[in-house]
Amino acid sequence: MANNTKYIKNYIGGALQPALSGDYLDNFNPATGEVYSYIPDSDAKDVAAAVEAAEKAAPGWAQAEPRTRFRLLMRIADIIEQNLEEYARAESVDSGKPMSMARTVDIPRAQSNFRFFATSVLQFGSESHPMPGEAINFTLRQPLGVVGCISPWNLPLYLLSWKIAPALATGNTVVAKPSELTPMTAYLLSQACLEAGLPPGVLNIVHGLGPKTGQAIVEHPKVKAISFTGGTSTGKQIARTAAPEFKKLSLEMGGKNPNIIFADCDFDEMMVNTLRSSFSNNGQICLCGSRIYVERPIYERFRDELVKRTQFLKVDNPLSKDADLGALVSKQHLEKVQRYLELAEVEGGNILCGGEVLQLKGENEGGYFMRPAVVDGLAIDCRTNQEEIFGPVVTLAPFDTEEEALALANGTPYGLAASVWTQDISRANRVAERLQAGIVWVNCWMLRDLRTPFGGVKQSGVGREGGQEVLRFFTEPKNVCIKYG
Ligand code: NDP
Repeated sequence: MANNTKYIKNYIGGALQPALSGDYLDNFNPATGEVYSYIPDSDAKDVAAAVEAAEKAAPGWAQAEPRTRFRLLMRIADIIEQNLEEYARAESVDSGKPMSMARTVDIPRAQSNFRFFATSVLQFGSESHPMPGEAINFTLRQPLGVVGCISPWNLPLYLLSWKIAPALATGNTVVAKPSELTPMTAYLLSQACLEAGLPPGVLNIVHGLGPKTGQAIVEHPKVKAISFTGGTSTGKQIARTAAPEFKKLSLEMGGKNPNIIFADCDFDEMMVNTLRSSFSNNGQICLCGSRIYVERPIYERFRDELVKRTQFLKVDNPLSKDADLGALVSKQHLEKVQRYLELAEVEGGNILCGGEVLQLKGENEGGYFMRPAVVDGLAIDCRTNQEEIFGPVVTLAPFDTEEEALALANGTPYGLAASVWTQDISRANRVAERLQAGIVWVNCWMLRDLRTPFGGVKQSGVGREGGQEVLRFFTEPKNVCIKYG
């Protein structure tokens, strides 16, 4: 499979085709600042065609043996695996992330998503509720029909497949929209589906802008459910559109995750992981710990060590094997992060290191590069500490008591993930229980088991993905009560 494609196509009804309007949008390479390909500027007509194809395919796919669905999804995973380098390079060029990360995290996880849900549907059961001497109830779990999957740019194929795979495995047909900033691996996926022999219309991928293409998917009356990952304000807009139609909704949204570090932690282990949780993918992972709270006795030691290690991180061409950090995803996003750093200073913060926009040499001269930043001296209620920046910026503050750490950690409108570093297991339990977050990591970060519930509370999310949770989301329970004769 050669990725020499300049013109990305929609995948509708088993065919690769341009938008019906014939219009295209520019697709930028964030590491050069140049347009390197074009994506279909789809609208409601393309979405309607995709929904029609999905509807036509729905009965056959819903009735297909789970084994058939299993085999096809496993084949898609195999094709991705066989083309790992091509997919990883495409992801890196499209998003600006280091190729090393795409090769070891993004693309392997996309394969795992297909394999995990292909397999789990073979073991997916439902309940029965006997009424002794009278009747038996059993629950059928049936696919919803046509569902919409909308994903963001930060982990493009990883998050798209995290939705598509369980939706397809449970017998739904899908209309999906990747972020218009990172469409390339979704396009490669459509080619993989053709190669795997996925029946036409089972998966449809429509490229384009969120407010046009995405909105049309959410509005379409025949789309029964929306699984969305992205920003909280977009999630609100989706909820406003979908609620009057009573569509099922799964919303995975923004985060402002706390990382709580107690003085009794394993300092070296914590440092290695805190550097990762702060700046992996340029801080553009919803699970990154962007607010770091450190128990006062080790605050200065921690601060100095974090600054030292942050200054060592190499920001470079994402295709270079030495790059720790690549480019931010877009010029607009880089400017947004810069504005937050300016705000941090206005709000009284000290920028301890980083924040400079970097101009690399040669072909990367126009890329969107920034040195990762560490800031301290900010109050919890300032905007820098309350709003999601989603870039290479962390804030630090000391705390004196467990109670204070919890108040700081829980003191934002978000509640996606949190990390706690301590050797005291009783404290770890206490704190984990009281943290307002959907995911708590103790002495680790981003250690993922695909069987676990995944999602956030407060403004970070509604519903859960992963494991049985998502299989339930993508199916409708129906109780059948049979009276004994
Ligand atoms: P956005 O909310 O801007 O976009 C997400 C997706 O929604 C994109 O495909 C976008 O299209 C589309 N979209 C935009 N407007 C609409 C609309 N009106 N109707 C339907 N779809 C629409 O998020 P980003 O892509 O900027 O991603 C970053 C955000 O994602 C961060 O807030 C981050 O925290 C969050 N995120 C959350 C995760 C979680 O699990 N909770 C995981 C990863 C990221 P387009 O790109 O064309 O605008």
